[in-house]
Amino acid sequence: MSLVLPDDFGQTPKTKLVLPEGMEKLLVQVCCAPCCGAVLECFKVHGIKPTLFFYNPNIHPRAEYEKRRDELIELAQLLDFEYVIPEYETKEWFAAVKGLEHEPERGARCTVCFTERLTATAMYAKEHGFTHFTTTLATSRWKNKKQVDAAGFAAQEATGVTYWSEDWRKEGLVTRRYKLVKEFNFYNQLYCGCVFSKESAVYQKDVNIPAIKTACEK
Ligand code: SF4
Repeated sequence: MSLVLPDDFGQTPKTKLVLPEGMEKLLVQVCCAPCCGAVLECFKVHGIKPTLFFYNPNIHPRAEYEKRRDELIELAQLLDFEYVIPEYETKEWFAAVKGLEHEPERGARCTVCFTERLTATAMYAKEHGFTHFTTTLATSRWKNKKQVDAAGFAAQEATGVTYWSEDWRKEGLVTRRYKLVKEFNFYNQLYCGCVFSKESAVYQKDVNIPAIKTACEK
């Protein structure tokens, strides 16, 4: 099913976006269409054209990865944003989280997962002349923004590329996010992404709650 631009697209509640000093070229790590709809709308309204970087080797299995990837590509094309899709290589991600399989969501495994993805993003940014990078990983209120920011700043430290730690939940963006998820009718994700989140007891319980639209909205 093709995505269609909602009639009210452009009505971002975040009408004043203050850009980081010296930002010339922005790379945005995007995890899925539901998480980035309201952020991309805000960029569009402010005339900012970042490149989207879909680096998510955590997503399991491949079929789920491809569903999320293809929807993100469709959204990027609809909104006329450039995007980069690195190869789907999961080996390093699994090696990084080894021993943390039984951690709960927002625990130590997620710290490693965020750090791995944002470090790869910052490395790509460095190699391709981006001055800044940011991420949509913390757009859901169920993600720990401090944990995501710690990973972002660690990636900045490792590469020298500046992490833009804007809070993409403030100024009405959470409400706007949920509205756009419904209006676009994005794919209904049932877990955060990795095999461990899929198999977790929380997932087993939560999939039976009808109010849940996507895993990112839990
Ligand atoms: S639960 Fe989500 S953030 Fe945590 S390790 Fe799995 S995919 Fe990464």
